[in-house]
Amino acid sequence: MDLYSGYINTLIDELAALPGIGSKSAQRLAFHLINLPEGRVKRLSEAILQAKQNVRYCRECFTLTDSEICPICKNEQRDHGTIMVVENTRDLAAYEKTGKYRGVYHVLHGAISPMLGIGPHDIRLRELMERLSREPEVKEVIIATNSSLEGETTAMYISKLIKPTGIRVTRIASGVPVGGDLEYIDEVTLLRALEGRVDM
Ligand code: ZN
Repeated sequence: MDLYSGYINTLIDELAALPGIGSKSAQRLAFHLINLPEGRVKRLSEAILQAKQNVRYCRECFTLTDSEICPICKNEQRDHGTIMVVENTRDLAAYEKTGKYRGVYHVLHGAISPMLGIGPHDIRLRELMERLSREPEVKEVIIATNSSLEGETTAMYISKLIKPTGIRVTRIASGVPVGGDLEYIDEVTLLRALEGRVDM
């Protein structure tokens, strides 16, 4: 559509390509941005660029962080013998917000999905197995992937990989609604799911 200038169309296209933003929201955001003072637009674009250039994966757990090792992995007060496996950094943040989990994490950055052509090698699963063989103090792996088909498939797959090592593998309870993203679930439900975890 050529109703707007080329610059605006480009901006709308870029915004519409972001997750959860339809073409109507993209148009609204584009016009909002155009009407902002130039200083604010500069700060926003600078923040995006700075984050992109400086954020990296933690060497241990692969969450997004500013340093080589994230603050959680660096923290000696945390229980490094318990690893919670989550699909993404947002899920990690959801559990951190409860303030009750004392273990550490491993972030997969996705879930196995045969339908979308995402296999075990496309997520950070090899890194988890390497970590387990390198850290003999690990006693339990809690699988906290989403209760979607992909999340369950991933949980089963990981469980089968880890079982032969003798490390305890548990799955968070299904208080979490089917298909529900962990990040949208309230803290009480998250804690109940963690406390009610079962052996796989
Ligand atoms: Zn880490």
